[in-house]
Amino acid sequence: MSNSQAPILVTGGAGYIGSHTVRLLAGQGRKIVVLDNLVFGHEQAIVDPDVELVFGEVGDQELVRSLFEKHGFGAVIHFAAYAYVGESVTNPLKYYQNNTAEPIKLLQVMQEFGCKVFVFSSTCATYGVPNKLPITETNVQDPINPYGRSKLMVEWILKDCGEAWGLRSACLRYFNASGCSPDGKIGEDHDPETHLIPRVLMAVTGEIEYLEVFGTDYNTPDGTCIRDYIHVEDLADAHAKALDHLAAGGESIRCNLGTGVGVSVKQIITAVEEVTGKTVPVKFGPRRAGDPDSLVADPALAKQLLGWEARHRDVRDMVAPAWTWMNGPGGGRYPENSLTR
Ligand code: UDP
Repeated sequence: MSNSQAPILVTGGAGYIGSHTVRLLAGQGRKIVVLDNLVFGHEQAIVDPDVELVFGEVGDQELVRSLFEKHGFGAVIHFAAYAYVGESVTNPLKYYQNNTAEPIKLLQVMQEFGCKVFVFSSTCATYGVPNKLPITETNVQDPINPYGRSKLMVEWILKDCGEAWGLRSACLRYFNASGCSPDGKIGEDHDPETHLIPRVLMAVTGEIEYLEVFGTDYNTPDGTCIRDYIHVEDLADAHAKALDHLAAGGESIRCNLGTGVGVSVKQIITAVEEVTGKTVPVKFGPRRAGDPDSLVADPALAKQLLGWEARHRDVRDMVAPAWTWMNGPGGGRYPENSLTR
C-alpha cells in the first residue's frame, strides 16, 4: 500500500486538465509538485501557492531522481503529452518520443525508488472507430492515428510493469475535456486552439471570422459529429478518486471518463448561442480527416470502481465557465511564461 499522505508528482500539471486537477488536489490538502516543460503549460495556471512548479522534462532522469530524493513521492499523475491528432499524423516520431518514450524514463525512476502508483491520462482515441456504442472498456482498442497509438502503448507498458514489479495504475480514458473553473481563474489556453467549444466562442468574440463545421453528412440525427463533452472539473475529481483507490491498495483500473451524453456540433453551437446570447457565425465545410461519426462513453465502470460520475451533464455547464474565462482580464489567455526554454 502506498502512503496517501506522501507528496504527489504531477507531470504536465501546468496544462489544461493538469492544472484543474492540481487545483483540486491542493485544495484537498495534498502536497503537490508539478513538473512541466511549459511548452504548452502556463506558470499562471498554478494558482495554489503551496504547489511547487519545477521547470523541466519528464525524461530528464537526473532531475526526476533529484525530485524523488527530495520529496519521496507516493504517486505520480502523468498528464504531460502532446495532443494534436493531425500533427501526430504528419510527425509521428514527435508523438512516440514525447508520449511513449518519455514516460518510460519516468517509470524507470519510479521503479528505482519503489514508487508504484501511477495515474495516466489516456484517451478515447485509443478506441479508434468504435466497434459498438456507447463505448465500454471492452470495446476493441484500435486507434486510427499515432496520437491514439502513442497513448495505447503506454497503457500496455503500465500493464506489463504491473505484472513485472507491482506497479498499480489507473488509465483514465478521457472523452472531450471542456469547460473550466467557474471562477474563471484558470481555463483552456491552447496555441493553436483546435477544440470545438473554444473555437465556437472565438467565433462569437470575433477572434476568428466564423466557426467552420467539419462535415454535415455524418450518420447522426443532424448530420454533424457527436461527442461526449466532459467537464474538466469532473475529470479532476476522477483523478482524485483514482489516487484514493490506488493509495488504498486498489488494483489497477482502466476506465472511461465521459458523461454518457452525446452532443452534436450543431447542438454545441446552439448551447453557445444560449449562453452568450449572441449568434455564432458559421460556415459548413467538408469533413475533417479521421473524425468518427459518434464517440460516446459508457461511464458505468468508473462509477462502479471509483464511485465517480460526471456532475455536469448539460453542455451549457461547460460552455458558461469557458465564456467567463474568455471574458476575464486575460481574454482567455494566460500571460507569457517567465521561464522559457
Ligand atoms: N469541430 C468542428 N469545427 C472546429 C473544431 C471541431 O466542426 O473548428 C468538430 C470536429 O470535427 C469534431 C468535434 O467538433 O467532430 C469535436 O472536435 P474537437 O477537436 O473539439 O475534439 P476531438 O473530438 O477531435 O477530440
